[in-house]
Amino acid sequence: MRVPFLDLARTHDTIRAELDAAWHRVLDRSRYILGEEVEAFETEFAAYCGAEHAIGVANGLDALHLILRAHGIGHGDEVLVPSNTFIATWLAVSQVGAIPVAIEPDPDTYNMDPALAERAITSRTKALVPVHLYGQAADMTVLRALARRNGLLCVEDAAQAHGATFDGTRAGSLGDAAAFSFYPGKNLGALGDGGAITTSDPTMARRMRELANYGSSEKYVHRQQGVNSRLDELQAAVLRVKLRHLDAWNARRATIARLYHDALAPTGLALPQVDPRADAVWHLYVIRTDHRDALAAGLKRRGIDTQIHYPIAPADAEAYAGISVRGSSELGRRLGREILSLPIGPHMSDDEVRQVAAACLEVAETFHSPAA
Ligand SMILES: *Cc1c(COP(=O)(O)O)cnc(C)c1O
Repeated sequence: MRVPFLDLARTHDTIRAELDAAWHRVLDRSRYILGEEVEAFETEFAAYCGAEHAIGVANGLDALHLILRAHGIGHGDEVLVPSNTFIATWLAVSQVGAIPVAIEPDPDTYNMDPALAERAITSRTKALVPVHLYGQAADMTVLRALARRNGLLCVEDAAQAHGATFDGTRAGSLGDAAAFSFYPGKNLGALGDGGAITTSDPTMARRMRELANYGSSEKYVHRQQGVNSRLDELQAAVLRVKLRHLDAWNARRATIARLYHDALAPTGLALPQVDPRADAVWHLYVIRTDHRDALAAGLKRRGIDTQIHYPIAPADAEAYAGISVRGSSELGRRLGREILSLPIGPHMSDDEVRQVAAACLEVAETFHSPAA
């Protein structure tokens, strides 16, 4: 039996009637941009995150970019970002003309190491953008305090962490503002692109909402040179349905993570570690081994799909070639060679989880026996 990395169709089938009702509602109303679905979703998502405001935007990259721009981060400013993240975190910084400074992760949680962040602060540093990588919130208690002490903006890249908490507080209300992605494969995913910003600062919320809508909050009155980055009514209607299932889906992910953890303990593979203050939502289940490529190949032969998040550190991307990238990416680079993401998601059956775990045990066995 083949085990796919992700099977969205299986999950959507379980809520098909609700999804059908949602898009028929939008078609019947025939309003597609900035209508009541977006407004309702924003209210519901803000409440879910424990933030005062949510602003629907076109995708997660735009959410990050709009936050930085609205807060006046721009040319020559330095922004601390993880050395190991999806490149969007870096691109948002570059898009506003600022300089990404790579901060290495804690080797256990893979999230931004606050002590290393502190050491990287200069007089040009204006913001830090920790990522809640793989669904585990970064140490926001320390990072936010660090930002406050140094007068820096603290932005959460929460694209992988819908519903995650740190010290009991939800992602989306752990910093000054947070960026979410609703790319279909995320824990809360649309049927296309989508994103949101959350914040509890009313002035900034208004500014970002304007920026995302041609710099306008009143038709044909343009107060800023904005962009067009909006969540649409169809996606908002779908997201409202899926938000109601998010906690159950995240709980299923946590169960799968626990099954993996128990089954893989004897393998010698480095398993994910969760900070006791964090409640992770397991966007990805990422293991680490010196034999990564052999493990991936062995699993493939046994019908199991895996992925790597991410094989190339942003500092090494061609996009940053010829630019002297600041900060260190040594560990980020090494993780790119050693990490492997196993299938996880609400679609997975216990049988599939057991099949993946059994295959890992089988393949890992060969790492320690003499070459055959
Ligand atoms: C997915 C993702 C993004 C970008 O989201 P898009 O909606 O694809 O633009 C940003 N940061 C991280 C960490 C992500 O995983």
